Amino acid sequence: MYSDLKNKTALVTGAGKRTGIGYAVAQKLAESGVNVVIADLVKMDDGSHPPVAGKREEMIALAQELSRRFGVRTAFVDVDVTRNASIQQMADEVKSQFESVQILCNNAGTVAGVPSAIHTYDDNAWLKTLDVNLNGVFRVSKGVVPLMLKTGGSVINIASRAAKVPPLFNGAYAVAKAGVVMLTKVMARELAGNGIRVNAICPGVITTDFTRWRFELEAQILNSTPEDREAEMVKTIPMGRLGSSEEVANLVAYLASNQSSYTTGQAINVTGGQLMEL
Ligand code: NAD
Repeated sequence: MYSDLKNKTALVTGAGKRTGIGYAVAQKLAESGVNVVIADLVKMDDGSHPPVAGKREEMIALAQELSRRFGVRTAFVDVDVTRNASIQQMADEVKSQFESVQILCNNAGTVAGVPSAIHTYDDNAWLKTLDVNLNGVFRVSKGVVPLMLKTGGSVINIASRAAKVPPLFNGAYAVAKAGVVMLTKVMARELAGNGIRVNAICPGVITTDFTRWRFELEAQILNSTPEDREAEMVKTIPMGRLGSSEEVANLVAYLASNQSSYTTGQAINVTGGQLMEL
């Protein structure tokens, strides 16, 4: 709980799934009295959207649940971070409901296609992965930072350990997340004079749908089982376990609050010791 966060407004992208990092962030901020906008991609029944998104009613219900539990104002906004028009619509809606935003958490992310080496990487999968993970952070920041300029605030971008250590056969994601780290530093320099701090978080392996999907995919490719893939991964983590969404959300809340008032332009690892840097 951070008392200075009370009555601020946050927008969290990719926060419409109960099991995801984004929802854990929304929940953690709401606990501290923050009004929260959950922004996510609505799943279409025609199968044209990635299977990771939820249904509109489910995401509205998640937002309402936070209001009930924590007595804060919440809203759900449908957004596709790959479309400028959708982001502008989101920004307009947030402005009309909340006027300004003090906390932006760019959390939406995905991996398109299947694991592959660069020389065989599918072009569309490459472009889509960069579009959601990197261009999406640019587009949403461009749309929402204007709502932060009057009051100042904190932007927190969810990057990845993959931004710093090249994963095997997941090149587009790694390159996109490395771009997010540099974008974070660029924004931190540019916005410091406006009272807006910008930091990135680099999670290691966190238990979400994203991770379960990855272990299943690896198991298929390596003729193994998801449980074995997870066990192999755990061996590389000094703390001997995967992380939880809440452990990422705790750092988001700290970076959002004045407790981190002299921290900007950083990319902080949350990896159970899997990544240690000087
Ligand atoms: P998740 O799949 O549960 O959540 C991702 C969210 O992004 C979903 O709600 C999805 O609907 C949304 N999204 C995808 N494409 C979108 C689009 N075009 N527009 C709007 N929203 C879109 O995964 P997660 O594990 O909770 O991941 C959250 C973030 O954390 C991602 O940026 C991911 O890259 C990052 N991350 C996760 C891990 C991990 O181990 N889970 C590790 C490092 C980084």
